[in-house]
Amino acid sequence: MSEEKSLNFLEDIIEQDLKEGKYQSIVTRFPPEPNGYLHMGHATSICLNFGLTKKYPGYTNLRFDDTNPLTEDTEYVESIKADIKWLGFEWKNELYASDYFEQLYQYAITLIKKGLAYVDDLTAEEIAKLKGTPTEHGKDSPHRGRSIEENLDLFARMKNGEFIDGAKTLRAKIDMAHTNMLMRDPLLYRIKHAHHHRTGNDWCIYPMYDFAHGQSDSIENITHSICTLEFIPHRELYDWFIEKLEIYPSHQYEFARRNLSYTVMSKRKLLQLVNDKHVNGWDDPRMPTISGMRRRGFTPKSIRTFCDKVGIAKRENIIDFSLLEFCLREDLNNTAHRAMVVLDPIKLIITNYENNKVEELPSENGPDENLGTRLLPFSKELWIEREDFMEIPAKKWFRLAPGAMVRLKSAYIIKCDNFIKDIDGNVTEIHCTYFPESKSGSDTSGLATKGVIHWVSVAQALTAEVRLYDRLFKVENPNSDSEDSGGDFKDYINPASLQTITTAYIEPSLKNATETMRYQFIRKGYFCLDKDATPEKLVFNRTVTLKDAWVKETKKEG
Ligand code: ATP
Ligand code: MG
Repeated sequence: MSEEKSLNFLEDIIEQDLKEGKYQSIVTRFPPEPNGYLHMGHATSICLNFGLTKKYPGYTNLRFDDTNPLTEDTEYVESIKADIKWLGFEWKNELYASDYFEQLYQYAITLIKKGLAYVDDLTAEEIAKLKGTPTEHGKDSPHRGRSIEENLDLFARMKNGEFIDGAKTLRAKIDMAHTNMLMRDPLLYRIKHAHHHRTGNDWCIYPMYDFAHGQSDSIENITHSICTLEFIPHRELYDWFIEKLEIYPSHQYEFARRNLSYTVMSKRKLLQLVNDKHVNGWDDPRMPTISGMRRRGFTPKSIRTFCDKVGIAKRENIIDFSLLEFCLREDLNNTAHRAMVVLDPIKLIITNYENNKVEELPSENGPDENLGTRLLPFSKELWIEREDFMEIPAKKWFRLAPGAMVRLKSAYIIKCDNFIKDIDGNVTEIHCTYFPESKSGSDTSGLATKGVIHWVSVAQALTAEVRLYDRLFKVENPNSDSEDSGGDFKDYINPASLQTITTAYIEPSLKNATETMRYQFIRKGYFCLDKDATPEKLVFNRTVTLKDAWVKETKKEG
């Protein structure tokens, strides 16, 4: 991935359009349906739409595609806005397809008057039956020949609530033998006596997606209306409405849906995970939602970099989740504050260190000098990581073992003299001596050690709950694996995706941790404070391991 990236196909089109003077500036929109929380797939679309108008003159609208009253909710509207802002983008206008209900109604009347739309009495099943197949022509509805007057009257009565749900529909009159099935007299309006989250009970007829989307684009003078590949067959209809209504010609362009390995990205499936309590809500740190990833500790920059690196494609593919983690580590490595935290403690006693003495040792907050240093209390009794000691050391073991020396990070070199075991054979205490002249920063001991381990002073340590996450699914593609085999994506849920450490020992400076801070727990990964934390009980999430977790344990040194 070189610095000088070639233009993606949309940038090519836009540069050409600007060069030819087709547009002076461009207008894009991000059109979420407020029926769930945004996920990483939406992030792609956001970065693309807003990114284009950052790069080229123009702006991006946020338009809620709220034409389906049954599944939509203001809670989702608010979360979507928060997520886009958090990602670092600003929309020009906040708009709602429902704002156009009256205008769309007028458009429908225009089509009726042109003899291009009619009211049908057939049920959804009957309509489907007459639709034909890709190789077989459809058949005209018996109501297709209604007069314009009759259609105008029936449509007005549909709007006025004279009919029950499903009793009538408004359909475009195109061609029941069209090769594109979507052009076979598509539905424009259906009757739904339902409360809408914005228009309340004003309407009992609601426009179909196809009748609302393109016209909304047109009303807003969207120049480049970008959507995903499944809408390719809809483009013909999109253009048909614009042509017949003689309105501003927006153009639709399609790119491939973004999929990520080891997760699912469909609001419908994510909602199932929430409802069936496989996760603890939409913002569960294991979810591929923007809110979940924010809670997990992902940074907006890492997500933007990821979207940028992956670019856009015209063919669907699965992007490896580890690329996203790579972008995250790159960002966090420079910005995260270092902290010492022991997740699986074992006590270490420095036998030649004075009782009750406490030294305050400086330790750097990060590789960037601007991050400064903090003071760590050091004393005779320390917690160290259980895995940093081996009773019988392996080959090339550079950490603690009987008789071995190791450096305590930002402190002294110690030598292990002894250890104590309980009756079950578990090591419970390690006894060491330290070398006073080996203090970090002023080491005159002449001793050489290869391993450096982290520690926390027992007397000053605070405790915290630490949550370690693994992938939510066991297989790379839970979508196709399940659907192809007739199974359910939920069969592939990783039962061990959350591991909770109830008592980790943390350095005292973490008492002031905030949700926006990012930390590197030295040698353990990147972490952030979870929203469940209280002043009495700190809770941290592991955002990501230091190295790719899925090649871990193969090579591990001190
Ligand atoms: P879902 O299937 O999860 O409900 P959707 O496409 O129905 O997704 P919308 O709220 O209708 O969700 O989508 C808003 C915008 O985000 C659309 O332009 C859509 O094309 C885009 N989008 C949604 N999912 C993805 C994805 N996986 N990759 C790229 N763009 C996506
Ligand atoms: Mg949708």
